Amino acid sequence: MKYDYLIIGAGFAGAVYARQAADKDLKVLLIDKRNHVGGNAYDSFDEDGVLIHNYGPHIFHTNNKEVWDFLSRFTQWHYYQHWVLTSVEGQLLPMPINVNTINKLYGTQYNAFNIHEFYESKRNKTIGEIKNSEDFILSQIGEHLYEKFFKNYTKKQWGVYPDELDKSVIARIPIRHNFDPRYFSDKYQAMPLHGYTKMFESILDSKNIDVRLGVSMQNLDADISYEKIVYTGKLDEYFNYKHGNLPYRSLRFEFENLEQEKYQEAPVVNYPNDYDFTRITEYKQLTGQKSFNTTISREYSMDDGEPYYPIPNDKSAQIVEKYALEVAQLKNVYFLGRLAEYKYYNMDAVVASAINKFKEVEES
Ligand SMILES: Cc1cc2nc3c(=O)[nH]c(=O)nc-3n(C[C@H](O)[C@H](O)[C@H](O)COP(=O)(O)OP(=O)(O)OC[C@H]3O[C@@H](n4cnc5c(N)ncnc54)[C@H](O)[C@@H]3O)c2cc1C
Repeated sequence: MKYDYLIIGAGFAGAVYARQAADKDLKVLLIDKRNHVGGNAYDSFDEDGVLIHNYGPHIFHTNNKEVWDFLSRFTQWHYYQHWVLTSVEGQLLPMPINVNTINKLYGTQYNAFNIHEFYESKRNKTIGEIKNSEDFILSQIGEHLYEKFFKNYTKKQWGVYPDELDKSVIARIPIRHNFDPRYFSDKYQAMPLHGYTKMFESILDSKNIDVRLGVSMQNLDADISYEKIVYTGKLDEYFNYKHGNLPYRSLRFEFENLEQEKYQEAPVVNYPNDYDFTRITEYKQLTGQKSFNTTISREYSMDDGEPYYPIPNDKSAQIVEKYALEVAQLKNVYFLGRLAEYKYYNMDAVVASAINKFKEVEES
């Protein structure tokens, strides 16, 4: 069989690229070593009938209209705006930190007009160059909030304290000067109405796309021919780890079904200082599903296991650079997505990247 494209990986990167190629009447073979499509956004009904996210909670949000319009061809939406509470000193407080978080924690009555006075009085003004995530937070909100909300959470999540992490990691979380209780402030925020997996099935529903699951790049039949490859697996794996292994943080989820309609106050509750897990997610509160029972997951971070989060630091940057030189030598092989580019990408950024890469390869 002859294909225009072999696409390795059926997550957002691979599926979105495949669909665009198929829409231009190009023939695509899409493989994934897992036995399902969707990559880490895969969801499924558990044995108690509750829709869960098998690789952890995924909330779609974007300011990119092109991405929103593209996905809207393949799903209807459950209009959900994500919110999170953090358990600190026995209270559940809004996260990201906003004016209400401060007022509840300190018993103050700040408003959006004078909250800057509070942050200004707390922040560490002696930090010059921001070298890491600790510097970044201390320079914005000072020691106490850093200790309560960020220090131990980061250690649990990343295995190191914020002073050993690139500032980009924590800079993703805003410090709010208003009362906005939402986790994200993007224009478009929603969950696929029937779940991510259904959306992926719809994206891949084309006569020009053959999907083969449980097939890895390494054990693909030799008689299959193709013009171009889109690779969305691990960057170091493609090159047989010749320049060393790229580090990843992994996760373990402990799912539990409970015979009660609702478990917790918010869809996600973070536990920075108590317990060994980082957070508890209650999936029904994300998906809008109605049922008499509910499923939660407790999330534990680990060093080993499935690659989840790239770890951005000087050492990994040096390894990436070596692989990037190899990538530049290849012809008709395109590296796309969070594993292949070794970047923390949100889903919308991966979709945008796949749209742009397709234009670059086929339309320029
Ligand atoms: C816990 C967690 C929560 C997240 N929450 C959010 C969120 O709320 N909102 C958001 O926007 N983003 C979120 N993300 C990010 C989101 O998961 C990624 O942006 C998205 O999954 C990236 O898609 P991808 O196609 O690049 O990679 P993946 O989804 O990882 O897909 C890559 C696929 O390639 C396959 N593959 C790899 N190697 C091979 C091989 N050799 N042969 C065959 N197949 C192979 C893998 O099996 C996998 O299915 C979250 C990530 C994590 C880890």
